[in-house]
Amino acid sequence: MRIKQLNPRLSNQIAAGEVVERPSSVVKELVENALDAHCTRMDIDLEAGGTKLIRIRDNGDGIYREDLTLAMSRHATSKIEVVDDLDAIDTLGFRGEALASIASIAKVTMTSRRKAASESDDAEDTAWQVTVGGNLMTPELVPAPHPVGTTVEVKDLFYNTPARRKFLRTEKTELQKIEEVLRKISLSHQQVTINVSHNGKQSRHFAAVVDGSDIERRVGAVFGKGFMENAIYMERAYEGDAPGRKLSIKGWIGLPTYSRSQADQQYFYVNGRSIRDKLVSHAIKQAYQDVLFHGRHPVFALFLSIDPKMVDVNVHPTKHEVRFRDSQQVHGFLFKSIYSALADVRPTSDEGYGSVVGTTAISGMGAPGVGMQNNPTQGYMPLTSGNALHGASPFASDFQSFGDASSNNVREQLNHYGNLLRVNGDQASPEGLPETNDESVPPLGYAVAQIHGVYILSQNTNGLVIIDMHAAHERITYERMKRASDSEGMKKQPLLVPLSLALSEKECMVAMDFSNELEALGFELQQASEESLVVRSIPAILAKSDAEGLVKDVISDLVELGSSNRIQQHRDELLSTMACHGAVRANRRLTIPEMNGLLRDMEATERSGQCNHGRPTWKELSMYALDSLFLRGQ
Ligand code: ADP
Ligand code: MG
Repeated sequence: MRIKQLNPRLSNQIAAGEVVERPSSVVKELVENALDAHCTRMDIDLEAGGTKLIRIRDNGDGIYREDLTLAMSRHATSKIEVVDDLDAIDTLGFRGEALASIASIAKVTMTSRRKAASESDDAEDTAWQVTVGGNLMTPELVPAPHPVGTTVEVKDLFYNTPARRKFLRTEKTELQKIEEVLRKISLSHQQVTINVSHNGKQSRHFAAVVDGSDIERRVGAVFGKGFMENAIYMERAYEGDAPGRKLSIKGWIGLPTYSRSQADQQYFYVNGRSIRDKLVSHAIKQAYQDVLFHGRHPVFALFLSIDPKMVDVNVHPTKHEVRFRDSQQVHGFLFKSIYSALADVRPTSDEGYGSVVGTTAISGMGAPGVGMQNNPTQGYMPLTSGNALHGASPFASDFQSFGDASSNNVREQLNHYGNLLRVNGDQASPEGLPETNDESVPPLGYAVAQIHGVYILSQNTNGLVIIDMHAAHERITYERMKRASDSEGMKKQPLLVPLSLALSEKECMVAMDFSNELEALGFELQQASEESLVVRSIPAILAKSDAEGLVKDVISDLVELGSSNRIQQHRDELLSTMACHGAVRANRRLTIPEMNGLLRDMEATERSGQCNHGRPTWKELSMYALDSLFLRGQ
């Protein structure tokens, strides 16, 4: 076969293959164009899940009459001019191919009236309209009535590409995908009102944010009602050690106890652009790892600001992906920011968290009495029965299970933790119970009783606090063990028979580059050949683990992400198990001073709002919630 130049229509259709997968991709492109034109309002009409009609009207800047036809042709954009512009893109679009692609697989009409740029600018007093697609191969310009702004109408998507049409799902599914696109936009562009109708009926309305309470409403509309009460707002910034290295992050992160079984409510933006990124997901997952129930996914809406020069957005036609110039910096910054924000989740008198728990408790009590119909003892399966706290060293009986390989220093450590573990019973106990307005009352209040050896009841200024004593103690113990282990450093355990590892040349190089860091973690490595390493020692605390698998995983993290927290992760898993065994058992009777000691420890411990498995450690029932339980004052 001979080589032929493709005609423009066919090459646009090929480009459309990448950009326009389904109706929601069209919506994304059109909405982004409206936002780039500085609109404050968008009205979106859809029919049949967007397959029959997508019409988006905006009140943005509009388009010059002479540019209307150009806008529809490929490689035509007003957003960049020279190659250097690619280095610092501040618009959502820039590739100049969306409209041309869409017009090659649907019938497109665009009507626009330009906004006067200044008083002397005599912008036209009519709008102009152009139609492309169908049998109309050459676009024709006609005058049309239209206020300042632009309307783009896309009809009969994929009418000329039946193969594509076959991949469409039901109307409902396509509509859901469109709504997901709009949810993303509604979070990042809160100043814009978005109206959506489907088959002639209003289906969504996102009102523009004017003041603080609107934000809650808008974010709440995306995540559902419970989110704002179960989320923390965070802001962190890094000033940068050199020009262009400034980073900042802000947004909402769900409490670990408000997690989901799927990663379906995770929104991440880079300079206002919604993206998916492996490195970002990894950093966030890692930050949550210690507080999230196994297999659960956090919920978040986070906005990263970064110097546009430090991120390449021209990586993928749909612009869903980006490439960071210094991915390690971004990874580290995200991890630290979120990790520290989560560490602050503990009982405080700070309203945010207090009300969180209050609300959860109220909704949890929606059907009064349900819990009480059950046999009270059945509901509370003690985690382990009968195995009471063994004086100063609760690990004594669990020690064997970590035994042999872990050597003496683990035994020492355990004794050390054992001492740390003792519940601080000697703290001030209350004289009488707190008054509702007494500011000196600690957030978790003062213990009044223990029930069924499982829960502590406590009274604080708001009302009643219920504490799962095992869960709380487990977290406190775990955090202490981690701190103790951090301050002592990782002990090395030499291997009797050094382990030889076959790796790729690149992996060997990276491992040797990081050999100091690895040594600090307890790994002693030596290069044996271009493609093999010898491991002479491993971290003592992990002596029982699969050393070969661990080293390989760590090195592959280093190759891919430039950092690895696997060692710490393994150590934490081990410490967490130890803490679980060491924590006060259910069914142990505590004295009131012991209970108060535990409450004060919780207030002082990072992440103490959840146990090591991500379950909540305490709940508050405010007087209001209690009153409504008893229908008081109604
Ligand atoms: P890109 O957005 O990458 O520039 P598009 O094909 O999406 O490419 O759009 C081409 C051009 O048409 C844009 O650069 C912009 O100048 C103009 N345009 C498209 N939609 C609108 C709109 N809603 N309001 C104003 N101008 C628009
Ligand atoms: Mg565009």
